[in-house]
Amino acid sequence: MKATINRIGHRLRRGVVPQVLHWWGGAPLNTGGKIVLLTSLLSSVLVTGVKLLNVLEPAELFLFDQVVRWSETGSEGPSRPSQNLDPRMTIVGITEADIRQYGWPLTDDLLAEVIQTLQAQDPKVVGLDLYRSTLRPPGSTDLIESLTAPNLIAIMNVGSTQGQGEVPAPPTVEPERVGFNDFPTDSDGVIRRNLVFVRSSEGGYYSFALRVIMAYQGYASTDLRAEENHLFLGDRAIRVLSTRDGGYQNVDSSGYQILLRYRTDQMPARHLSISQVLSHQFDPDWINGNIVLIGTTAASLKDRFYTPFSFNQDEELTMPGVVIHGQMVRQLLDIVTGQPAHYRFLPPWAEGLWLWGWCLVASSLVWIVKGPSGLLLSSSVLLGGVGMGGWLAVNGLVWLPLAEPATGIVTAITVVLAYKLLYRTTHDSLTGLPNREAFMGTIQQALYHRQSTEKPVIVAFMGIDRFKVINESLGHQVGDEVLQLMAQRLVQHMPPEARVARVGGDEFALLLTHLSSSAAGELMDRLQYALSEPLTLHGQKLPSTLSIGVAISQPGLEHKPADLLRDAHTAMYRAKVLGKSRFEVFAAGMLTEAVNRLQLESDLINALDDQEFLLYYQPIINLKTGELAGFEALVRWHQKDRGFVLPSAFIPAAEETGLIMALGQWIFREACRQLHHWHTLFPHYRHLTMSINLSNRQFGQADLINQIEAALQETQVDGHCVRLEITESMVMGDVDAAIDLMLKLKSLDLKLAIDDFGTGYSSLSYLHRFPMDTLKVDKSFVGRLEKSNEDRAIINTILTLGQKLGMDVVAEGVETATQVAILRQEGCDYGQGYFFAKPLPAASALELLQQHQPLEC
Ligand code: C2E
Ligand code: CA
Ligand code: CA
Repeated sequence: MKATINRIGHRLRRGVVPQVLHWWGGAPLNTGGKIVLLTSLLSSVLVTGVKLLNVLEPAELFLFDQVVRWSETGSEGPSRPSQNLDPRMTIVGITEADIRQYGWPLTDDLLAEVIQTLQAQDPKVVGLDLYRSTLRPPGSTDLIESLTAPNLIAIMNVGSTQGQGEVPAPPTVEPERVGFNDFPTDSDGVIRRNLVFVRSSEGGYYSFALRVIMAYQGYASTDLRAEENHLFLGDRAIRVLSTRDGGYQNVDSSGYQILLRYRTDQMPARHLSISQVLSHQFDPDWINGNIVLIGTTAASLKDRFYTPFSFNQDEELTMPGVVIHGQMVRQLLDIVTGQPAHYRFLPPWAEGLWLWGWCLVASSLVWIVKGPSGLLLSSSVLLGGVGMGGWLAVNGLVWLPLAEPATGIVTAITVVLAYKLLYRTTHDSLTGLPNREAFMGTIQQALYHRQSTEKPVIVAFMGIDRFKVINESLGHQVGDEVLQLMAQRLVQHMPPEARVARVGGDEFALLLTHLSSSAAGELMDRLQYALSEPLTLHGQKLPSTLSIGVAISQPGLEHKPADLLRDAHTAMYRAKVLGKSRFEVFAAGMLTEAVNRLQLESDLINALDDQEFLLYYQPIINLKTGELAGFEALVRWHQKDRGFVLPSAFIPAAEETGLIMALGQWIFREACRQLHHWHTLFPHYRHLTMSINLSNRQFGQADLINQIEAALQETQVDGHCVRLEITESMVMGDVDAAIDLMLKLKSLDLKLAIDDFGTGYSSLSYLHRFPMDTLKVDKSFVGRLEKSNEDRAIINTILTLGQKLGMDVVAEGVETATQVAILRQEGCDYGQGYFFAKPLPAASALELLQQHQPLEC
């Protein structure tokens, strides 16, 4: 035994549980499927709980009555003229007219005459549904005489029903022929059940209807056997109702009860009034060999009870007691003659399935449909379906709970909608990732649980590099696609314990709680590598790199989620400033730096309007002749509090804020204007060129060509005198697009230079495809010329490369005479640097031109 348990336990641990978990977390069910499954189960459990509290029973009873009314009645309503009346029975009712004619209560002689008139036609059973414990002379002897007939069944009240108190049967009727009044009422006062039999120490009490059919079928009392859940009459079983059957949840099912089947298609029997009987106005065949029930039908006698429906179209759904007895007699008769008349009920597990099935369908539909009209339609279809199911079931004599699935549907819809709403408020609609608010909550939780784990809480802030360029040049739709792809990549490459969120336009964040700082660093490296693969969109390759800032919780320090996120953001900014596509860990000084930067950005915004920018011009010298070949325009910012600010301090901020667009345009125009001015002043300097730097974002700008063309026209400068300086990193992302743009620039006759050559990650294999005129060797190489032969070899290689590709080579950062000598020896065409001149204000540059001297080489 123990071995078996162990074996099962082992299997669960090894096989089943991991498999279920795998299935749950794996491919077979997507998120939607899981949510539908979960919400449907949750709704079923909720509704079952509500049902157990007995809250649904009134609604179930109400719906049952509705369905009973709809069933079998067709469109003509319940009071269809009686057809196909049950041939086995006739009801003799004491009508209002009878009371007017004979008075009330009927005297004994009159009642005796009625019974005798009927007995003359040889009925099989006469059921006297009237209390007669007190005699009403005259004619009592006649009545007592007629009550002794062996086929007469009398009624008594055991005192439990209708508050009438105990009423015994007429004294002369032997107990074998007496049945009790068998109307148990439901909590809403409606009669839906028939108490058929009650067991007692002396044998039992028989209901009036049971006695009538036993007499009709010729059963003796001894033919009845009462067992646990069944009554047996001969070999016929009468199944007994239990407390939770159908829509009942907690009904008093003591004794042997059945659910009453109301036949709504026809009256239970043909009807005669007392006066019709006494005046012999009836067909003797109605009586002969049949059951006759005698009772009151006059409304004024108040012998009426609430029923699920009524043959009279009175607003109150009631029936006279004798008609209800007619229904009961007929149903019992059908049962014991083997006709389908029993109601059946679902076992509890099937009721559970019936409920869950509807919840599942409702959850799925609501998960799929969008918009209020779809929701309304699907919920009406579902509720209609439940009603239809109920109708079909009742017609097939099954009582299905209806309020239960209806509540289930409403609950499932509500739960799914609530989930959707919650999802929408906590998730970003574009990428499906949690949003900033939700992410803050997740950090909060992680910080809360931090004490229990030794690992720090690590927040990484990730910004897509040059995303603004993509958005501005390729449009927002492409931008959105980039974000979606990036989100997918992030999730793909993340360890399962990590939480990813979209916290800003082009910014994602990551929460790690399971890694040490060093492991997190390794993860960042891996991520950076994995995510820097260019994205392919519409057949086009886009560069995609991330700048990542990391903030790590410190042991023993209180942290707030917002602080951690801000620190990570600051560190990311730092990573951007330091050249992007890298990660930086937050350090204390960064915050002040960030604040300063913010100040700088806000100062920058008005700088252009306030004309705080100006251009300096640094000469470029022909190393062979010593002649002045041109200038490079270098922007300066003269800020009232800061003084002169160098471009390295404000160009990144200008790029970030987008100010670079307007600034770049101004620089280009201003440099051209200056060149044109010098060209006119000094005709012998007509060959003088102006080198102008382009920034990253300008290069990606959609109307760059138009702007440049307009500026050239306006300033009347020939394109071939202007050299645009582009860095390697600007062109290496989407090479084809860059070449395309460069060719357009060339079509304006402009010269193109590749700036800072050797510092970027240019691939030599592309270089020959770029329509470049000039290579500018970065000053870092020139600076080391005197110190190492290696750098000399590099310069030599670059020069050879330049010659091979038909490009001029400009050496930047030339500071010493030795450097000039080496460069000349190596055959370098041009030089630029402090050795010749620092960047000069326009006036100083003018002086230089006026001197008209080849500069000292
Ligand atoms: P860059 O295009 O490589 O510009 C050359 C930089 O080297 C200039 O710094 C210049 O002052 C400096 N330089 C020149 N000769 C020497 C030398 O002998 N030794 C040393 N150590 N440095 C020398 P600057 O003006 O501070 O500009 C820095 C960078 O800012 C530029 O690098 C360029 O990338 C950017 N920049 C400057 N002006 C503009 C502009 O108008 N537009 C754009 N988009 N970027 C600009
Ligand atoms: Ca430059
Ligand atoms: Ca340069």
